[in-house]
Parts: sequence; C-alpha cells; structure tokens
Amino acid sequence: MNQLLNRELARELNQHTQSWNILDTLKYLAEKFRRQITFSTSFSYEDQVISDIIFTHNLPITIFTLDTGRLFEETYKVHSRTLAKYDKLIKVYAPDHAKVEKLVTQQGPFSFYESVEQRKECCHIRKVEPLNRALKNMACWITGVRGSQSESRQNWSKFEYDDSHQLIKYNPLINWTLEETIAYIKTNHVPYNILHDRGYPSIGCAPCTRPVKEGEDIRAGRWWWENNTSRECGIHSND
Ligand code: SF4
Repeated sequence: MNQLLNRELARELNQHTQSWNILDTLKYLAEKFRRQITFSTSFSYEDQVISDIIFTHNLPITIFTLDTGRLFEETYKVHSRTLAKYDKLIKVYAPDHAKVEKLVTQQGPFSFYESVEQRKECCHIRKVEPLNRALKNMACWITGVRGSQSESRQNWSKFEYDDSHQLIKYNPLINWTLEETIAYIKTNHVPYNILHDRGYPSIGCAPCTRPVKEGEDIRAGRWWWENNTSRECGIHSND
C-alpha cells in the first residue's frame, strides 16, 4: 500500500462519512474493504458497543480478540456472555507458546514489574505479535478508541492511517463520551465487563491493571507502577 495514497484515503473517508452514523459507515466500509476489514475487541464498554452493532446487523466484518493468557476471569465471563447473546464467532489469537514458555522459564511469571523493557517484552509477545498476525492482509481495522481515554488519543480522527500495520484505522467512537457509551450499553442490554462497576474504566491483563481513584486519569490503572511512561502497550503505535 502506498503510504501517501492511504493518508489521502483516510482524509477522504473522514470527509465523505462526516455526517454518517456508525452503522451506515460500517456498511460502507464492509463493502469497500470486502473481507479485508476486521474489528479487535477486548470486551471493554466501547468494544461491546461496536460488537453489538456488527453482530445485530449481521455485518460481514470479522471480530477478533487477543487472549494474552493473563486476563481477568471477569473478562472471560463477558467474552462467554457475548458469544451466548449473539451466537456468533469471535476469533481468538493467542501468543506464540514457545515464546511464552521461554519468557516465563527465563524470567518468571512477573518479569513485567522489573523494568519497562521487560514489561514491553511481555506485551510484545502476548499482544503485539498476535495482533500483527490478526491484521495481516487486512486493509481496514476498526477500534473502540475514544478520544477522552487519554491525552495522546485526543487528537485522533475517526479515520487514521496506521503506519506500522499499513492500513486504514476506523475509530467510530472517537468523539463519544464515557456517559454516551454506558447509556448505549444499558439501553441495548449489551453484556459488559463487571469490573467497570468496580472502578476499572480501562481493563487489560489482571496483573497489570488496578482500579483508579476518583479524579484519576482513565488509564492511570494500567502499569501503575511505572512513572512517566505512556499508558499504552504498543498496539496503538500512533499514540
Ligand atoms: S499487560 Fe502485563 S501481562 Fe499483559 S502482556 Fe502486557 S506486561 Fe504482559
């Protein structure tokens, strides 16, 4: 894919679909990027909104999730309830077992607390590499990112060109507030992760996520022991 052309395509898509709702935009994209469009879910509030739209309207868009092997039991429960509600498939990508075996054998099960480099190594093995496999041969990646989730996401547009994966990224909820997201979940009886009710606005792997206090940043509970690092794992590399 030509980088310049795709930056131009992202700009055009932002203009072309400016006044469209999410459903109409997804239908248009499913046609435009036929069989090369996918949505990644971590079963967050935001991701559950998008899964609900895709599944309810039978859109020809695949949904996948990354099972790092270190997720909360509550996340597996919402995964299970989502399968039961919609009776659809969610493709699971797991880390390369040989790399996980080597990592844990050589560094133990909690190496990510030791240094930023070791944390990034674990995220790379358990998240980034499986994501790269999931996005291989895709032209459009749908995400549940909201602008108000972090400072670095505030300047994102609905459509971005993702340099590292060389595809168009569509962020349908980029301008949604948390309140709007929750209202959609409640109104449409969408299954959600119960940890959201227990002070976890952003949910990742169990050992690397804690609840946030009143007034703290939404992503302050991710890798909370690290100082002054981006609260990102490398998945959204344009952060
Ligand atoms: S969030 Fe923690 S456990 Fe999960 S992949 Fe990253 S370092 Fe590993």
